[in-house]
Amino acid sequence: MLGWFLPDRALRLKALPVWFASLLPAFLSAQPVWQHPPKLVVGIVVDQMRVDYLYRYWDNFGPGGFRRMINEGSFQRDAHYDYVPTYTAPGHASIYTGTTPARHGIVTNYPYRRELKGTYYIAKDTTVAPVGTDDPAARRSPYQLLASTLADELELRTDHRSITIGLALKDRSAIMPVGRTGDAAYWYVGGDEGRFVTSSWYRGQLPGWLTSFNDRHLPAQYLDQTWDLLLPRERYHTPLPDDNPYELPIAKGIAPTLPIDLSTLRKAGNDLGLLACTPWGNTLTTDLAMAAVEGEGMGRDDVTDLLAVSYSSTDELGHLTGPRALEVEDMYIRLDREVERLLGFLDKVVGIGEYTVFLTADHGGADVPAYLRDLKGGAGYTSLESLRRWMEARGFAEVIDKVRSGQVFLKPDAPQGTDAAVADALSQHPEVACAVAGSRLRSMDEDGGLARFLARGYMPQRCGDVLFLLRPGFLVEEDGGGGKGTSHGTAWNYDTQVPVLFFGKGIAKGEVLQRTSITDMAPTVSALLGMAMPNAADGRVVPEVLSK
Ligand SMILES: [Zn+2]
Repeated sequence: MLGWFLPDRALRLKALPVWFASLLPAFLSAQPVWQHPPKLVVGIVVDQMRVDYLYRYWDNFGPGGFRRMINEGSFQRDAHYDYVPTYTAPGHASIYTGTTPARHGIVTNYPYRRELKGTYYIAKDTTVAPVGTDDPAARRSPYQLLASTLADELELRTDHRSITIGLALKDRSAIMPVGRTGDAAYWYVGGDEGRFVTSSWYRGQLPGWLTSFNDRHLPAQYLDQTWDLLLPRERYHTPLPDDNPYELPIAKGIAPTLPIDLSTLRKAGNDLGLLACTPWGNTLTTDLAMAAVEGEGMGRDDVTDLLAVSYSSTDELGHLTGPRALEVEDMYIRLDREVERLLGFLDKVVGIGEYTVFLTADHGGADVPAYLRDLKGGAGYTSLESLRRWMEARGFAEVIDKVRSGQVFLKPDAPQGTDAAVADALSQHPEVACAVAGSRLRSMDEDGGLARFLARGYMPQRCGDVLFLLRPGFLVEEDGGGGKGTSHGTAWNYDTQVPVLFFGKGIAKGEVLQRTSITDMAPTVSALLGMAMPNAADGRVVPEVLSK
């Protein structure tokens, strides 16, 4: 029965070596990918990207960006953060460590410290020197990060032969992914410099390719133009006119509407930091990613390299306008073209099928509460001052040190058990969804429900005594910009649900509909590459993502 497809005897004998050789690639590709891992893994984080942007803007995307990643790759459609607060530094740390703040220690961007009577920045490190700039704002390092990342583990796996680099406009988004032992992180300094820099944590001077890149002065060029819609106006999805009461402008003294003449704004005294709120902040990030791949020679040999790219401009703009703005859709349509440009570049330089890309977000973002409230939606603003008064009216005036977004700090001499009593009182506030005492979270074995989000974001040494969550749709008034603009940080789906895409070598095409956690990404990448998981990872490999 098999004879019909076998060549006749003479041909079979002559062609035998050729026939075996032709089977070889098939045989190799049948082996698990970890035995022949990709030459380069590129991690892309889009700051504040909600998963529904993919659905809303789909018809405006081109064939080679998000659509290509989804049509040819793996799309986790119900992927979530499972801790609070959903902010940028914890988000990037969680993606790359495969765990949550309770274990990796990046509890928020600006933790409060009682001894300082104030906050400190989680990526600030006064023991390191700025490199490539004199700006003290470049004194940054990952020393507060307590768990290893994919970059750390990849370096160990390959005896430090891998090239592992993080880059972004925001320093925390470049630093957290490469961990403490990755090769380098590069981030943007605005002002009149408009340069990418690093700190002495990583190296003593900028590499030559980066100096040349900075010398091209791209930020000034990108800001010498007008920002108008890329597509005809009628193709955009927005329930609001461009001029509406819920948006803040990208610079003082102008209307929050397109077109925006960026060159006039520059002449009016706006510095090169302005770039961060425009689509060209993302363009510059792609330019830098490509320069890094070329300059460092990434993806050129069989030792896997890791490039962690984070697009920050989507968050800078999203805070100002909220997710329904015309400007936001325009930025995502242009970002789609940036993803296409990056993939096209990798096809050429590393080779189709030789690299793997994953893409996600560090958190989502809320609708502008005032907008939903005006539609009779359940949303609003709660001031920290009113929460403090609520607790004071219930007898806690003497013991409260500080009320922050999501946390209450008690004075050190507060009697034992006060945290539970304060949590009880706060739970009864009509706009509070959940309040739990730290002493309970410490011993909690990750219960279900909202308390689980608090427990997974809680590290006693770095957090307050009572942690709380506002009701869905609510923002702390101090973050709300007087009814304009928005924020994130909660346990509600608009902040926790993010896209998780995998594409390229070793990835099985298809959709994953089962709920997954952001902490599953690092274990999945570790399995793909055949290496140890980051040391504190508690996510699981998502089997549907990996090709068999
Ligand atoms: Zn943000």
